[in-house]
Amino acid sequence: MAFKNITIAGTGVLGSQIAYQTALNGFSVTAYDLNPADAKKRVEALRDSYKHDLKLSDEDFDKGLASLTFTDDLGEAVKDSDYVIEALPESLKIKESFYQELSKKAPEKTVFASNSSTMIPSQLVKFVDRPQKFLNMHFANRIWKCNVAEIMGTAQTDPAIFQEVVDFARAIKMVPIEIHKEQPGYVLNSLLIPFLFSAMSLWVKGVAEPETVDKDWMISTGSPVGPFMMLDDVGLRTAWNISNNLYESKKQEIFKIVADKLKEKIDAGEDGIESGHGFYTYPHPAFEDPDFLKK
Ligand code: NAD
Repeated sequence: MAFKNITIAGTGVLGSQIAYQTALNGFSVTAYDLNPADAKKRVEALRDSYKHDLKLSDEDFDKGLASLTFTDDLGEAVKDSDYVIEALPESLKIKESFYQELSKKAPEKTVFASNSSTMIPSQLVKFVDRPQKFLNMHFANRIWKCNVAEIMGTAQTDPAIFQEVVDFARAIKMVPIEIHKEQPGYVLNSLLIPFLFSAMSLWVKGVAEPETVDKDWMISTGSPVGPFMMLDDVGLRTAWNISNNLYESKKQEIFKIVADKLKEKIDAGEDGIESGHGFYTYPHPAFEDPDFLKK
């Protein structure tokens, strides 16, 4: 494995997970964030999930922590870094100034990757001084169990660098998903977003109730989840933001109708699992009833 020292820039929801998963798998990791104290707490908060989902002991969790250092000094964070994964907020402005500063401070050997969900690498590569060493590496939330890494370069990315990142993904127990052509939404969201919108279109047009749509999908395909169960998990605010962005870019009325219906629910305090209400009511949603698919 060519990479040894890894830097994670931005250790919020996703960055903290990437930092910990990487440290747990034997790499020396530096977590860079404007607020390192919060970053530390966020990583510590992963303990219960690793215990519950991966049966990791406290002792082994602590071994992972021992390979992780936290800093708010970018120069320090990248001074001997082989690979920087950027997980800063989804703002082009923030990423632009970060990559400009990073290009000045990182040694020549350092490869850069962005975890951006919505920006393709061509939108970011213009801010770096080493286009052949730049690509996107996109993780899914709860990376320890939803363990894919979508890897997507630009036409300028060196194929040998792409391969190193694929190898690195395997080394931190991700399944690498190699994407050969730039595609907004990578593979997963290219499938998932149209699917969720088709489900919400059926709802806003009054074709069928959310529960009915979920039941049909689950019984017919054998899937353990339906689209409205997924939407509650993603959160209705994110779905609303995406609906607005799609309306802006595509100008199709259906996206605005969906956005307005979602806004009504959000304003009524029904924004998904976190608030206890979404398309279902938690902690005991209707789909947990053993007879849900029989009625
Ligand atoms: P977040 O807001 O939880 O975390 C961002 C972190 O960056 C925060 O800890 C913040 O303190 C820090 N930060 C902000 N500006 C900074 C700066 N200038 N320098 C250093 N640190 C700074 O965001 P997130 O949800 O973890 O998303 C991060 C990236 O990961 C985004 O590009 C997003 O598209 C992508 N992503 C998110 C998810 C998800 O489910 N949340 C999934 C896949 C990819």
